[in-house]
Amino acid sequence: MKAEIIAIGSELTCGARLDTNSQWLSSELEGRGWTVHRHTTIADDHDGMVRVFREAAQRSRLVLVTGGLGPTLDDITRDTLAAAFEQPLVQDDEALAHIEAMFVSRGRTMPERNKVQALRPQGAMAVHNAHGTAPGILMHLEDPACTIGVMPGVPAEMKLMFTEQIVDALPRSRQVVRRSLIRTFGYGESDAERLLGDLTARGRNPEVGITASQAVISLSITSRADTESECERLTAAARDTIYQRLGSAVYADGNLELYDVVARQLLDRNFRLALLEGPTTGGLISQWLTERTDYAACLSFSRMFPTPQSISPELTADGGLWREHLRKQADRIIDEQQADYVVLSSPSYVVQDGRIRKQNGCVVVVGRNLDEDYDVSMTGNLAIFRNRAARHALNILRLHLESQS
Ligand code: AMP
Ligand code: MG
Repeated sequence: MKAEIIAIGSELTCGARLDTNSQWLSSELEGRGWTVHRHTTIADDHDGMVRVFREAAQRSRLVLVTGGLGPTLDDITRDTLAAAFEQPLVQDDEALAHIEAMFVSRGRTMPERNKVQALRPQGAMAVHNAHGTAPGILMHLEDPACTIGVMPGVPAEMKLMFTEQIVDALPRSRQVVRRSLIRTFGYGESDAERLLGDLTARGRNPEVGITASQAVISLSITSRADTESECERLTAAARDTIYQRLGSAVYADGNLELYDVVARQLLDRNFRLALLEGPTTGGLISQWLTERTDYAACLSFSRMFPTPQSISPELTADGGLWREHLRKQADRIIDEQQADYVVLSSPSYVVQDGRIRKQNGCVVVVGRNLDEDYDVSMTGNLAIFRNRAARHALNILRLHLESQS
């Protein structure tokens, strides 16, 4: 069944604050079998809100709204909800008693203005807020058939009200929705789409979505069915097809990073990795592999160097010699640090017009039966090329370790 979410507040539309409520509510609803097909964020604007409420109720069986329930003049969710569905506002005595008690418990008298928080559209229910003064509102419309649940904007209050009060009052979705994630490295977004073809068509069940982030392409499989087992069957079939078509580009079934996979491969075989990272990968691999204490055993050595200490004239003659130089250093590190593999990243340097100039980056990945290198263009956005270069090195290690097992 279709649901949508409306986030209210000028602080959201002007960019001062991020709407995190809609994200949280969507994942809660999807886990309960709802399909959330729309998010709307709208300023505290009377006519705009009235329109959005009416349109949403026409479109969706369930509409969740957050924000605009405070006592100040810009909090107009109660008024606009009443106007949208042509209901007068009435005072909810129980809600008013609760708001008054809330002030008493804080040793304060209730300002007159807070009385408005006890108002609700006639025919709707006030939803108890154990953690704040703003009650929520629950409205069941018959034509169009729609349940509207309104919660406070403060994320902590919203989450508690949703789990403690709202969830049980919602219509039950008869559908089961399951999402799973497959992560790949080595293809561009459009290459992945071309290879997956029909699988990514909209409206298909399961639906396969493609997102790219930092050179990793993630495929999300969303299956909808009447039962859990049918969902699993649909997901498994899509997963098999993805594995067949993308082959070794698939590095994880689930929400894992490349470094998680490589760390586990190294740990399983008692292998140790040494890292000497210059500006080309900027210490990213070291940072990732030291994030978790249980990965420590797969690192034998990790060091960063800003620029090479000595650049001798023969090294700057051309990039090829530079690469050989990096290889020799890598071999030395393997011996000295008793490492099984080493990743070494550095720009190469040449002399032009008597001055030392930085060229492209170069990364070498060497060790047991492994000897690879690649160039990295170090122009453009620093964070982007470093991320890609660092992940590329990990992917070489992953594929190599996979082939050895
Ligand atoms: P309100 O219920 O509109 O008075 O909102 C109270 C506070 O909750 C706002 O000042 C925001 O800081 C926060 N807030 C409101 N809506 C959201 C939202 N959608 N996501 C995250 N925070 C929000
Ligand atoms: Mg507000």
